[in-house]
This record gives sequence, structure tokens and C-alpha cells, in this order.
Amino acid sequence: MSLAPQRLLGFAFASADLLLELAPDGRIGLAIGASEALSGSAETDLVGRAWRDFIDPRDRAMVDALLAGLKDGGRGGPIVVGLASDGGAERAAAMSAFKMPGNGGAVSCAFSRAAPKTSHDLHDKAAFEAAAGALIEAARATGQELEMAFLEFGGLAALRERVAPEAFLALEQRLIGGLRAQSHGGSAAASLGSDRFALVRQKGEGVDALVQRLITQISSDSSSGLHANARLMTLQSTASPAQLARAIRYALDNFINEGVSDGGTLDLNEMVDRSIKKTLADVGVLGAAVNDKRFRLVYQPVVDLKAGSTLHHYEMLVRFGDSASPYPMIRMAEELDMIEPLDIAVVEETVARLAAEPGLKLAANVSGRTIISPAFIQAVRQMLAKSPTVAGRLLLEITESAAIDDLALADRHLSTLRQEGCVICLDDFGAGAASLAYLQQLTLDIVKIDGRYIRELQHGGRESTFIRHLVRMCAELKVRTIAEMVENAAAEDAVRRAGVDFAQGWLYGAPSDAPASVIAPAVVGTPRPAARRVGSIDSWG
Ligand code: C2E
Ligand code: MG
Ligand code: MG
Repeated sequence: MSLAPQRLLGFAFASADLLLELAPDGRIGLAIGASEALSGSAETDLVGRAWRDFIDPRDRAMVDALLAGLKDGGRGGPIVVGLASDGGAERAAAMSAFKMPGNGGAVSCAFSRAAPKTSHDLHDKAAFEAAAGALIEAARATGQELEMAFLEFGGLAALRERVAPEAFLALEQRLIGGLRAQSHGGSAAASLGSDRFALVRQKGEGVDALVQRLITQISSDSSSGLHANARLMTLQSTASPAQLARAIRYALDNFINEGVSDGGTLDLNEMVDRSIKKTLADVGVLGAAVNDKRFRLVYQPVVDLKAGSTLHHYEMLVRFGDSASPYPMIRMAEELDMIEPLDIAVVEETVARLAAEPGLKLAANVSGRTIISPAFIQAVRQMLAKSPTVAGRLLLEITESAAIDDLALADRHLSTLRQEGCVICLDDFGAGAASLAYLQQLTLDIVKIDGRYIRELQHGGRESTFIRHLVRMCAELKVRTIAEMVENAAAEDAVRRAGVDFAQGWLYGAPSDAPASVIAPAVVGTPRPAARRVGSIDSWG
């Protein structure tokens, strides 16, 4: 039975809006379909043009890689690509490619309209975890079989030293394009460190073929010394979304820390089991830390910039065992719903120290998750009722590491705490997506500007504009500001000029076991009063 060409076309259009044939010289040889609606230019305008002009520049390396990886009879995609636009709305299409044997090396491509992508790059770890989780969930419904590839490239660092910077940049673009082209939809690949990458793809060719394909795409020069190890993990699992997320994180952490180890294909279900065991062990450690008060609190000074950078109060930072930063433990406690008992224990200890030292003012961190708990508010009220001298000297920093789900409830709780004499500060302002909503909907005394803006400040740039506007906005709302991570005189100068009220950071002192006096940095030009000891702190007002 022979099929008329129209009928073949009919089948092709059943799944595509536009068909393009790309000649080996990179020009569009044939264009059929709804080009105007898809790309804004008519089919006739496309013929004879280079395909690169049709694709968003940020996605060209990915399309390059997709095309270069096609053997005769081979298929690639679908990957979602941005279409080049002349400044109008962003347009995107899912692109599939097929290299028909005996067609003179031309590649037949089908494009169907798709939602534009938000990223044209490799994901970072957090974004990749989220993307992988969503893909696994979606694949459950469609029965699609997915797998994750962990890839470790040896020789990248050596190559960076050896070749010219532009050559290395081009190689890096090919690497990114190659990884994206092999990933599901062109947007499920991640960079996990200088030589480690991962991607999610539909179950397909073996791991050796994947590695070989990537290496040849990145560098056709066999003397490049580039080589790769890879391992696959199947992604079929019936675990809950939360368990899946933990298992993916566990697998990625293992890969980041230990690289690709030998062995066959990994199994996500095994990762779920292993991560559950690890979580239980961690919960034990955390539970014991809280119950037996197996943690320390260290003091970091906060200075008053408008009083010559003299000591204003200390922030209490928690420490577990000898590990320097509590952050991983805090995140875990938040995820496992164990942060509230920790926060209560820390506030309790802070209140005890305030009661013992009447000259002291201290700030304790409280997770955004804890602040919506009535039990926490009740606990703090009881502590303050028992130690009335503490009123006015306890500051609570609401950290943004966990989102506050119920802002109205949080604000009612904050106002209760304020009535009891607590000073309320929003920590890490600008780090989370919801910062402005928090500023708008919560009654605050102080806002602490996230350290990332401060560290960038000294280099000029847009952060200084952001901070200046934020400080002005806060002043109108009668909210004072703290700059954290002030590491040197240039940063202090910049935040002072921006009108920030208080500052904290290595310039004044690192966290230490006892309330140390402020280091008075010798700044040229601005004589500063000598540092003062704890006993002579000004009031909050
Ligand atoms: P944070 O509240 O924003 O604390 C500031 C962090 O920046 C601290 O890290 C501190 O050691 C660090 N730091 C201080 N000055 C500088 C500087 O000049 N440069 C740089 N690069 N870093 C500086 P740490 O102690 O690791 O705490 C991390 C986060 O853990 C805290 O961020 C806070 O969100 C959370 N955390 C700490 N203690 C507690 C606690 O008792 N309860 C809760 N819920 N969270 C806590
Ligand atoms: Mg803090
Ligand atoms: Mg902070």
C-alpha cells in the first residue's frame, strides 16, 4: 500500500504546527505549516534563512547539540526551544528532529506551540530537585519511564587551565547545550559543582552511548583529555511527593559528595529506603539535641551605625556539636516539623541569659514556621511572665527559610508578642520571593536586609539602589533596618550612606561563645569611639 504525500503530511501535522527541513549547511530548505502563528514570520520568509535566526540565541547551543547528535534514522527531542523574536512576546515551541536516511543529510523538524520556558540554562540543585520531582509525578500519570543520569566530567579543570578563555567558554556552552538537549523537554539538566552534572531523560540508550555522545559534542578533539563517568537511576516510584523529594536530595547529595561510584543502575525506591533510614537517624540526633539541650548558643554583635558603630545587641546563633553552621540541621528540622521545639528551647535559653544579665539585649532566631504556632506564642508569654525584667530586651528574628503560610495569623501572633515587650525583626529580607508581602502584611520593628545584597554592595551595582529604596520605604513605615554580613569598611561605608540603622558582620566580630566587645575597625577618615562593653547598651528606642 502506498500513501500519498498529502496523507503523510496529514500525519505529521496531527502533532505539529510547523515542519522545517534543515539542510546540512544550516539553512531552512523547506517550511510548511502555521509559521506566522508560531513564529511571527511567514513560511516563505523562512526558506533560505539560517535556522539559527529562527531560534532564541540562548537555546541555539542546545539545538546545535540536538542536531549534531543525530545519526541517520535517528530522532531527537522533543525539547522546548525559544523562538527568536523581534522584541515582542516570548514564543516557544516543542521541537522534534528526525534525520531521514537517504535525504542528503537534511534533518526534518516538527515544531508545536509550547509555553515559554523560564530558564535557558542548567538548573541549580534546588531547582533541579523541584523539576525532577514534578517530572516523576507527571510521568506517573502518563506511564512514561524516566531515568536520572549522574555525570562526572574528568579533565574539565585541566582543560580550563590549558586553553584560551574564549575557547573554554565555547566548550562550556557546548557542554550546557549538550546536557540540555539530552534532558527531558530540554529543561531538566543541572550543574552540581564544577565537574558534576545530572539530567532527567526518557529511558533510552545506555549510559556509555550517552557519555560518548556528550563528549563528542563538547569537543571533537580527541586530545582534549575530557572523559566522563556516568551512572543511571530509574525514576519509577510510588512514594509520596515528600518522600520522593527527600530521596532525590539524598541521591544528589551522595553524588555531589562522592561522585559516580561503580555499579549498575540505581533505583529510586532504594534511595527512598536509604533516605528514610538517614532521616530517622537525623531525627534521633535532632530530637536528642533539643530534648537534652545538646546545643550551644554563640553571640554575634550588632552595632548601631548612627551611634558611631557602638554595640547595640547580640544575635544568638545556635551551634550543634562542632559543626560550624546550623543551617542544614535547621532546614531539616523545618522539613520534619521539628523546628518549633528547637525554637522554644533557644528562646528559653536566651530569656534565661537576659534575666541573668540585666544590661544585655539579645536577638533569637525563630522560624517562619514556628511563628504561626499558638503553642509557641503561649510558651513565650509564660517565659516573659516569669522574667518580667526581660521585656524590651528580647528581639525575635523571624527567619524566612520556611515560608509563612498564614500571614494574617502570623501578624496577630507578632502583635501579641510585641504587647509582651518583644521587638520583632524580619530576617533575610529580599532572600525569599515573599519578602515584600511580609513587609506589607506584618507589623515589624526592624527589617534585616539579606547578606547577599550587602556583600555585593561594595562593588557598586544594582544592589545599592535596591538597598537605598528599601531603607527609604522602611523609614516611611517606621521600620528600622539592619545590614548583615558587613565584612569590611567599604561595606560599612556603603550601608551607612544608604541610611541603614544597624550593622552586623565580621567587621565587628564573628559569633563567639561569650558576649565579646565590638571590634572597632580603624577606618581611615572616620574616627570611631572606642568599643563599649555589654553593660552600656542604648535602649532600642
Ligand atoms: P541568619 O539569622 O541570617 O544569621 C546570619 C548568618 O551569617 C550566621 O550564620 C552568621 O554566622 C553568618 N555571618 C555573620 N556575619 C557574617 C559575615 O560578615 N560574613 C558572612 N559570610 N557570614 C556572616 P549561621 O550561624 O551559620 O546561621 C545560619 C542561619 O541559621 C541563620 O541565618 C538562621 O536563619 C539560622 N539559625 C541560626 N540559629 C538559629 C536558631 O536558633 N533558630 C532558628 N530557627 N534558626 C537559626
Ligand atoms: Mg538571624
Ligand atoms: Mg540573615
